[in-house]
Amino acid sequence: MPRFLKLVQLLILVLVPLAFLVSRGQGSKTLLVAYYDVGQGDAIFIRTPSEYDILIDGGPDNAVLAELAHDLPLNDRTLDLVVLTHPHADHLTGLLSVLDRYHVGRIIESGVSYSTATYTEWHSAMSDKEIPITIALAGQAIDLPDGTHIEILAPRESMEGQSISNINNASVVMRLTYGGTSFLFTGDAETDVLDDIAATHTVTATVWKVSHHGSRNGIDDSFLNAVDPHYAVISVGEGNRYDHPHPEALAILAAHNIETYRTDQNGTIRMRSDGTTLTIK
Ligand SMILES: [Zn+2]
Repeated sequence: MPRFLKLVQLLILVLVPLAFLVSRGQGSKTLLVAYYDVGQGDAIFIRTPSEYDILIDGGPDNAVLAELAHDLPLNDRTLDLVVLTHPHADHLTGLLSVLDRYHVGRIIESGVSYSTATYTEWHSAMSDKEIPITIALAGQAIDLPDGTHIEILAPRESMEGQSISNINNASVVMRLTYGGTSFLFTGDAETDVLDDIAATHTVTATVWKVSHHGSRNGIDDSFLNAVDPHYAVISVGEGNRYDHPHPEALAILAAHNIETYRTDQNGTIRMRSDGTTLTIK
């Protein structure tokens, strides 16, 4: 073999594994949880240390696409998991553009019955693209080899095809833990449901995404005592017509000395955890 070829071979042997280590190393020790500023609605992106990508809800329009483009490399058009907490438009509409733009590995939803054109479109897009669906049920869990653990806490019985008067209470509720840090996502579930969950499950969390955009029915003292968060995040649109967050909800958070972030005031909130320490941007 000519000497220069040997050199090329050696460089490849040395540099390729190095490049691999560097590329995996960049994200390999931190978990990202990004609460997107999508106006009045919810859209939360999670990238685990091994780059398993999850989107919880899509917000009220396609603003979520620009946010995702910020967190995902240009050539990465895959989301491993999309969770629809419940089919209200402020959680669902943006997901239609997400299904258009991204390959989605799996969808978790409650499957609750709700008649809107958007929800029908969502289900036909899912079946056209043959995306596997899991109907959320308390007790289901996802364990990733990188140490991320996700547990579904609600619904407690299958909502598939069920008609209920208040679909906020069909919300998929999830708790994610990574090392000593934990994140609770409660969708728009209201306090009667939240208090039931707290009675039967561990809900403690470093960060709680406050239910229902800081509405009065999304928070009470007993649930906040159970979660005992260091931080709260309220996903809410500036000057929204529901007057979210409610002053009493803010007063409860203040009385418990919870450091509270709001997407209408802080914009997108990105939290990174190394399993011990949380940094917030
Ligand atoms: Zn909502």
